Amino acid sequence: MDLGIRGRSAIVCAASKGLGKGCATALAEEGVNVVITARSEDVLEATAKEIRDRTGVNVTPVAGDITTEAGRRAALAACPDPDILVNNAGGPPPGNFRDWTRDDWIKALDANMITAIELIKATVDGMMDRGFGRIVNITSQSVKQPIDILGLSNGARAGLHGFVAGVSRTTVHRNVTINNLLPGPFDTDRLNSGFAFRAQKDGRPAAEHKAEAAASNPSGRFGTADEFGRVCAFMCSVHTGYMTGQNVLLDGGAYPGTF
Ligand code: NAP
Repeated sequence: MDLGIRGRSAIVCAASKGLGKGCATALAEEGVNVVITARSEDVLEATAKEIRDRTGVNVTPVAGDITTEAGRRAALAACPDPDILVNNAGGPPPGNFRDWTRDDWIKALDANMITAIELIKATVDGMMDRGFGRIVNITSQSVKQPIDILGLSNGARAGLHGFVAGVSRTTVHRNVTINNLLPGPFDTDRLNSGFAFRAQKDGRPAAEHKAEAAASNPSGRFGTADEFGRVCAFMCSVHTGYMTGQNVLLDGGAYPGTF
């Protein structure tokens, strides 16, 4: 299927590794010029080169912390009028809510709620003026199926979903859609850090936790960043103009509900 987005421009946040990289790569494979961000410049540069060499599109790395105003300003300076925006940032650390301070909560809200809202605010009106825009927020299965130790993520991301549920209905008449893409377990550094945390807690090897988790998923495995990226690219395509405000769960069937 031709996604119809060749020559479009995208900002993909937090994209030197993992799911963001998967999205940037899949969009680039469809001919989209991408600006990618991350904090570690060397890894980001290497990813930019890898995607550029593979696809031949323009890939512009912008090093910076996307959860800060300066980081967002830098990304927008490199691509002031994106057709596509993929919001992403690192997830908050796991822990026990009794240990979290107000500052921990503000940090989580900044990273996983307010950063996406600020970037939507900066780009959505231009998209509406031009009559095309696709915004995808990478969030988490935890919005539908909370995980106890990820309380900071559960709370902040639920806030973003609430915001998107409202605003996404006000942009679709101008062919600008806003949807959330909710990863279940994908084999990335982030996922592996969760197993390391559990290993630290109970003394069992992280590899054991990982094997058990993979086996307990209905698919018997974890997802890959490539699979995730391709679904994201489809959500950014010309074919999804009638799809907005949706929470698309990609979890190998782990969520056990009908809806
Ligand atoms: P990952 O493999 O650890 O990759 C994270 C990427 O984001 C890296 O490129 C990292 O680069 C960048 N990044 C992190 N914080 C950033 C910041 N403040 N500013 C700019 N770039 C930043 O993580 P992932 O698995 O792809 O996860 C992506 C998101 O999906 C996270 O929010 C995670 O919580 C969520 N999620 C993942 C899973 C899963 O199974 N993988 C499941 C549910 C939810 P630098 O460190 O160099 O900045």
